[in-house]
Parts: sequence; structure tokens; C-alpha cells
Amino acid sequence: MHHVIVGNSIAGVEAALVIRRRDETARITLVSDESDHPFARTAMMYVFCGQLRQEDTEFYDRGLYARMRFERVRDRVVGVDCAAHRVVLERGGALPYDRLLLAVGSAPRRLALDGAYDGPGVHHYVSLQDHAALDVAAKAGMRAAVVGGGLIGVEVAEVLHARGLVVHWLVRDAWTWPVALDRDEAAIVEAHVRQHGVDVRAGAEVSALARRGALTLTLGAGDQLEVDLIVGAIGVVPNTRFLLGSEVALSHDGGIETAADLSSTSAPDVYAAGDCATVTWSDGSRRPETLWYTARDQGRAAGAAMVGDSVIYRRSTWYNSAKFFDLEYTTAGYVPVAEPARRDPTPGHWQTWFQRHPNENASLRIVTKDDRVVGFNALGRRWSTEVWLRWIHERRSLAWVHEHLAESTFDEEFMAPFPILPSAMLHEGA
Ligand SMILES: Cc1cc2nc3c(=O)[nH]c(=O)nc-3n(C[C@H](O)[C@H](O)[C@H](O)COP(=O)(O)OP(=O)(O)OC[C@H]3O[C@@H](n4cnc5c(N)ncnc54)[C@H](O)[C@@H]3O)c2cc1C
Repeated sequence: MHHVIVGNSIAGVEAALVIRRRDETARITLVSDESDHPFARTAMMYVFCGQLRQEDTEFYDRGLYARMRFERVRDRVVGVDCAAHRVVLERGGALPYDRLLLAVGSAPRRLALDGAYDGPGVHHYVSLQDHAALDVAAKAGMRAAVVGGGLIGVEVAEVLHARGLVVHWLVRDAWTWPVALDRDEAAIVEAHVRQHGVDVRAGAEVSALARRGALTLTLGAGDQLEVDLIVGAIGVVPNTRFLLGSEVALSHDGGIETAADLSSTSAPDVYAAGDCATVTWSDGSRRPETLWYTARDQGRAAGAAMVGDSVIYRRSTWYNSAKFFDLEYTTAGYVPVAEPARRDPTPGHWQTWFQRHPNENASLRIVTKDDRVVGFNALGRRWSTEVWLRWIHERRSLAWVHEHLAESTFDEEFMAPFPILPSAMLHEGA
């Protein structure tokens, strides 16, 4: 049995490992045109800043492929012939498969600005190739515009600032990262990033780009901003253009349509996992998840399906953590905010409790549904997502969580408890 896996990042490699564990004799081939060894995409920024070497971000040792007898093809897949059961390679030739996993991840969403890609200076930050190109282009003293107010946007603003560029962070929405932060939380992040010297402009939609020596951006009301380089960080799209016209059905946003348990796609013997797969969310909507740990779980589920095991892929309760410069961010569970797709939570009695720390640059938001805590969003302090996830599963009340909050402080022995003040906001709705 020949298993071909396109994409050797977290979803692809985890699938390959599951297959090998179940089938000692299977032929397993990993195809990718990115790095030879899988690496943590989430840690690219630390390589950019010189805090880690690329090798330090590799999450398995370099002997893995040999030990597991994985074959490695460094090439780009440009088509899939489902009837003939083979993938077409960019450098010529084709690779036959018995089972095919598409774990092709995301590509950057391109800036919809005339002329953006007609010359140098416009970058993205998703692949290792993007990283390498930006690494060469970004030089201290240059002026940079980072377009896009999400997680990749803030990371890029940070690494460019660390390298000594003058950074303008342009956020189209009224506040930064509105899929994850509410207005109060975003105000904390924006103030913090500004304090580090980044020019943060919320509500700054970029409407045009002109190339006159430097790059001149026109912002909403007509303001002009001249920079030497631009990084588009307006989100990602499934990396699936090469599947257009094939038997593999794509959803309207380009994600690969999968069965709810990831046990199949529309094409026989073809599976999908990770950022490129359209899956069912807890609110019933279907779209890709674009998270590291869900890509890992999906890869494992798809690998199991490929060896014929019955699969249950159910998205575990959401959690994540990040840093905006040195401001901690921790989230767990369901904390709906302004994103339209998540604006209407399922029916029930929703309440949101929010409090800023009186003396620290920190905040905590707790969302309840039918008097049970369903989600946490925190800035400025480290919290244990493990404890929060347990409380969510135990269906704890807000009063109970307040009483036990100190138990979820990450460095309990070094941190004073987060004070619960009578002045905290409690409002109806999520
Ligand atoms: C800068 C950055 C920061 C991030 N930070 C976080 C974070 O803090 N937390 C978090 O949860 N997630 C984060 N993410 C998202 C996370 O990295 C992704 O969800 C995860 O990498 C998805 O894994 P994957 O295996 O599905 O695909 P990917 O990691 O995208 O890998 C897909 C692989 O397939 C290859 N490929 C694609 N098409 C082809 C083709 N046609 N032929 C051959 N090979 C192909 C690609 O080159 C790539 O190697 C971040 C992403 C970026 C870019």
C-alpha cells in the first residue's frame, strides 16, 4: 500500500507517524517543496529575531524519516488525477498512490491592491520562503507597513521593529484582531504595542498603492503613507488552487470538503487534514481551523482513516496562547467577539464578565452560557489553560471560578491573586 502525503508539516507528519505505527510495511512518501524537515511555523518569528536557529524549531530529530522509512520527495504537486490515482509533480513526472493525504496548509491571502505584486517590496509571512525573502529585504532604518490586524500582523510588526525598522501597523477594523479580542482587550494590546514604538493605526483601510521609488499607500480618508516595504498579513487561504478542476471538491473559501469525521473527501482514497481542510466547528459552521494543535489532531485522525481505522475527529475545546511583544495572551473555550460568523452564538443565556487589573497591564474576560463558564480570554498574565479547560468541562459557575481563580495562575507561587473587584463589568450577551 503506497500512502502519499502532500505537505510535511504538522498535519502531514503526524498522519505519517500514525500510518507507520499501524502498518510496518506500508510505503509512505512525503511530498513538499518547503523545508526538508518539519518545523514549528509558529516559531519562525524567533528565527527572524535571531533568538533561535531554524534547526531549533524542528519538532522531530533529523533521523525521523530514515527511522520511520518515510520517503521524501522535494517537489510541488501541481495536480491530482483522481481517476488514475496519481499526483502530478511540478518538475515533471507523476507519483502513483493508493491513498493520498492532502495536508497542504495555508497560503497568504494576497493584497487586493493594483500593482501590489508588479515589483519588489511587498511581502507575506507564512512560508519559510516568505521568511527568507523578508529576512533579506528588511534592513534597520527602513520604513515598513504591516497591513492586517491579526496574530501574524502583530508578530511581523514585532520582528521588524526588533530589527530596527520604523513600523506602521495598519489595521482595517476598528480595533486589532477582532476575531479574538473585544474592544477593551484590543485597547490594551494597542497601547502596549505603541509603547514599544510601533505606529498602530486602527480603522486604517488601505485603498491604493503607488510605486514612485518608495511605496506609497493611500489610507481610507486619503492620507498617504510612504514606506520601503510592505508585509501583507490579512489572513490565510487554503493552499488548494492546484486542486481546481480535480475531483476533490472545495468549499466556497477553497477548503477541501471533508466528511465530518475526516474519514474521506469527495474523491475516493483522498483524505485531507490541517489548515486546508474544511471541518465542522462547535457552532455548526464549516470552515478550516488554521491552528497548530488542531492540524496535529486532524493529521492523526486522517492517518488513522487511511489505514482503515474508524475515526472520530471532534475538535477539542479551543485554547491558545501568544505574546504581543511581551504582553501575554491566553485563551480557552468559547469567547465570541466581533467576527460576524461568530456574532450569533447558539441560543441560551449568555453573559460576559470583564475586568482590568487595577495596577497591572492585564485583563480577564470570562464568558458564561446558562450560568456555566464556557470561555476565558486573558491579557498580561500567564494562566494555565489546562485548569481552565477542566473547569469548562466541569461546567463551573462564574462565582465558583472567581473563588478558585488563583488555582489557574500559571506562576501561582510568584503572583498575587488577580483581584475580583465589584466594579468589574458584567453584561448580557457573549
Ligand atoms: C507566522 C505564523 C504564526 C502562527 N502562529 C500560530 C500560533 O501561535 N498558534 C497556532 O495555533 N497557530 C499558529 N499559526 C498557524 C499554524 O502554523 C498552522 O495552523 C499550521 O502550521 C497548519 O499546519 P498544516 O500541517 O495544516 O499546514 P502547513 O504548516 O501550512 O504546511 C503545509 C505544507 O504543505 C506544503 N505544500 C502546500 N502545497 C503544496 C503542494 N502543492 N505541493 C507540495 N507541497 C505543498 C507547504 O509547502 C507546507 O510545507 C501560525 C502561522 C503562521 C504563518
